[in-house]
Amino acid sequence: MLIVALTGGIGSGKSTVADAFARRGVPIIDTDVIARELVAPGQPALAQIAAHFGDSILTADGQLDRGALRAIVFADPARRRALEQILHPRIRDEVRRRLDGLQGPYCLVVIPLLAETGDYPFVDRVLLVEADEETRVRRTMARDQLSREQVAQILASQSSRDQRRALADDLIDNSRDLEQLEQQIDTLHEKYLTLAGTH
Ligand code: ADP
Repeated sequence: MLIVALTGGIGSGKSTVADAFARRGVPIIDTDVIARELVAPGQPALAQIAAHFGDSILTADGQLDRGALRAIVFADPARRRALEQILHPRIRDEVRRRLDGLQGPYCLVVIPLLAETGDYPFVDRVLLVEADEETRVRRTMARDQLSREQVAQILASQSSRDQRRALADDLIDNSRDLEQLEQQIDTLHEKYLTLAGTH
């Protein structure tokens, strides 16, 4: 099976693109979904995060307090790396486990932080979705009910466009409307089916 990683910055359109491939019958594995499952109460990763960051990152009923953890790791890159070192190997192992259960010519693995965490040796190609910065900011503000300053802070913490482009084999420009997006996805879908046949 051909394994395509889908990446891009916040608000670029990764989820929208993944949904469009899913409608074409392509299996999707989403590392954000896996990350959320890994920090559910009772999971070893949550215990490890609490041991490292202290119980202030837990709510009264033992859930992960995402806001509290985000505040800590945003303020301190070293602590952000510590969190990644707890989560990333587990996410990668879970992706591998799920890949074993899939069938079809190709699949997509959504890896928002591919440029930040790297280290997915089983990925065959990288598909990068891009939109210009102002478009990403506007879409993210509308989707997450965040201020411009909050979105700017998230953007600043992520890799640059050039860092992402260095990894990319294929590119989607999602700066325009959804019709333009669907056309690009049709072209890539055909390309991946062809590549999968010769893979
Ligand atoms: P990401 O997963 O990369 O953060 P999303 O796919 O959630 O980005 O897209 C961010 C927001 O922008 C969502 O609300 C989505 O519906 C919207 N969106 C994505 N692509 C387009 C587009 N081409 N035109 C208009 N809105 C879009």
